[in-house]
Amino acid sequence: MPELPEVETVRRALAPVLTQHYVTAAFVGRNDLRWPLPKNLAEQLVGRQFTNVDRRGKYVLMHLDQQDILLLHLGMSGSIRIYDTPPSLRKHDHIMLTMAASPTAAARHYIVLNDPRRFGWVDLFSATHQDHHKLLRHMGPEPLGNAFSATHLQTVFAGRQGPVKNALLNQQLIAGIGNIYASEALFHAGVSPRRKAATIVGQRAERLATAIVKTLRAAIEDGGTSLRDHVQPGGEIGYFVQRLAVYGRDGQACQACTTPIKMIVQSGRSSFYCPRCQR
Ligand SMILES: [Zn+2]
Repeated sequence: MPELPEVETVRRALAPVLTQHYVTAAFVGRNDLRWPLPKNLAEQLVGRQFTNVDRRGKYVLMHLDQQDILLLHLGMSGSIRIYDTPPSLRKHDHIMLTMAASPTAAARHYIVLNDPRRFGWVDLFSATHQDHHKLLRHMGPEPLGNAFSATHLQTVFAGRQGPVKNALLNQQLIAGIGNIYASEALFHAGVSPRRKAATIVGQRAERLATAIVKTLRAAIEDGGTSLRDHVQPGGEIGYFVQRLAVYGRDGQACQACTTPIKMIVQSGRSSFYCPRCQR
């Protein structure tokens, strides 16, 4: 499932092909994904110009003229492909935008959204509504933004008796972290995923805040590398080889102390950690 670094990679790939460009044709193959799509979405997009491409948590926010926002949520299995020539659509290709430098210019790019499991979604709404949007209104601060710090962690974790791993997945406390980067950040901070969130204070909060930022930044860099190496047109964007220390490595030696990595299930999600390095 795409987390902040994967979504940021998609944002970076979309920014140059959308910004200042016009939608000259739009294909919308269904009227719903996870939820119903906006009515007449294709008709509403044709002729519009994108102004810039942002990200909030795990969502790409594509800003359009007239102060509108096209929101992209990749869900569990969504991916984006970008082509220079008209592609033949594949199974589960639900949306395609044809982009050009002006409303009447020749097509320059084709952007395709594929989502086999259809947990993703696309929405179109006014920027004035952004703060009230159901997916955005309760979202915590960006971990790579100025509002995030050890103090923030300590404040939002205060009084929480549940495990820190679950608190990290709570998008209302911090935006964008999912199962993979929660395990990775906890390992780099030396904090057990089972520890009560409320006990993350002082030095431990400092270590965790630093590890979150470092882990996400390193993954975004890996995503950027995968984009640069992306020579094959129409390849899936947003999934790249991650350098993971603990996630998915149960039974393998901890890279710091060689103790076997352990897997546990917390609230139905798997957590991976080193029982020796993480306390
Ligand atoms: Zn270890």
